[in-house]
Amino acid sequence: MDNRKVLLVHPEISRTKYNFAGIIDNEPLELEYICTVLKDAGYEPYIWDGQVEEQPFVKRLAEVSPHAVYVCGRTRQENFMKEYCRAAKDIGCITMVGGLHAQHNYKRFYESYIDFVFRSFDIYGIVDVLENKALAAVNGLCINRGNRWVENEAAPFDIKRLPRPDRSYFYAHPRYRYLELQPCAHVRTAYCCPYKCKFCYRNRLNCGTYSARDIADVVDEIASIECENIYFIDDDFLFGEKRLEEFIRLVKERGIHKKYVCYGRADFISKHRDLMERLKEIGFYYVLVGLEAADDKHLYRYNKKSDLYANSAAVEILNDLGINAMGMFIVDLDFKARDFRDIAKWVRKHKLKHAAISIYTPEMNSELYDEYRSRLITRDPSHWDYLHVVAKPAHMSVRRYYMHYHILIGGLFLRAWRQGIYDFIDYKFFIGSIVKNMFRFGG
Ligand code: SF4
Repeated sequence: MDNRKVLLVHPEISRTKYNFAGIIDNEPLELEYICTVLKDAGYEPYIWDGQVEEQPFVKRLAEVSPHAVYVCGRTRQENFMKEYCRAAKDIGCITMVGGLHAQHNYKRFYESYIDFVFRSFDIYGIVDVLENKALAAVNGLCINRGNRWVENEAAPFDIKRLPRPDRSYFYAHPRYRYLELQPCAHVRTAYCCPYKCKFCYRNRLNCGTYSARDIADVVDEIASIECENIYFIDDDFLFGEKRLEEFIRLVKERGIHKKYVCYGRADFISKHRDLMERLKEIGFYYVLVGLEAADDKHLYRYNKKSDLYANSAAVEILNDLGINAMGMFIVDLDFKARDFRDIAKWVRKHKLKHAAISIYTPEMNSELYDEYRSRLITRDPSHWDYLHVVAKPAHMSVRRYYMHYHILIGGLFLRAWRQGIYDFIDYKFFIGSIVKNMFRFGG
């Protein structure tokens, strides 16, 4: 094969601009891992990330003229993923799809213009596909045989087999950020999550098997990254006391000074004040906590295995220590007007500085999706972004639900604005996009 060019694609999040572009822009880490694997196998990979690219995809496609294209993304990007595969097929490329959405919803990509779908984290299979080698043995590969699709079994992938990601694209695009931390590099130390919250699909990734890297290897990687801000994108980084103790020890021993962002559970934080204090000392700056609800009834229903007491204690500890708590809440589809107000009250009462609100969204291909199937008001995957209502609320119209949602996020946003929390963003642009969305969807 003469042409060894492979274009690796992460589509833009949205084209309506109602999203967090310019506030949170995520490094395409998965593509950077694939980059390393392809280079090691003698290929010439290129990345195109719609979050940061100025050049339109079709122009880059024509310019690179690759042998194959690999596209990844989340549910909300499905339409763009397909559009880019279609464009690549039109010029005769091999088309491959992978990533978080495809892992569980692989059948949604069974299209004539898509050749292969990957439903495991095993990125080494991409080389086998390019070399047309032992395809029947490729972990979780789905193969388009023209009149039918052949599906290989998917097996858990041992994260310790990952190479170092090739971060040249990240260094060339300093726009990647988490709020004011810019640039901000992503680091993954584990796949999957050991908990089983009902609304969450992350605990089903990697065939539901939790797989973690050696923490010494993680520290080695962090030391080598030319960036002061590190975002641990594990679903729950604050897991395993001993592992975290060792992490702190190694970071101190090696004199690494960086700022860190991570996800952690409220029940863990509430029981580990001392550990959190030591994490603060080595640079933990933002901790994203799935508080989910302002009442125990919903926490129980979500199988959160935590409670309101833990939520309050976690926020209090983080506030006391001066770690920025980003509390993430769900506005449920069974909410009445007072439930929206209760979240706002809880945030004020506990002096939570940062709050993020997600609309309850039954993930595709899950038990919840089946439960909500008869109430779905859209099938458009771009609405699966936690910012849109996808199923009919139980106690009010969709329009009224949006009204309460917008009052809640508007109030939280105003509060943050008065406190100067988000002074780094373009307020005019952001408020404009919220208002535009209100007119489009109601409220
Ligand atoms: S702890 Fe977080 S990542 Fe894990 S299952 Fe629950 S919501 Fe999902």
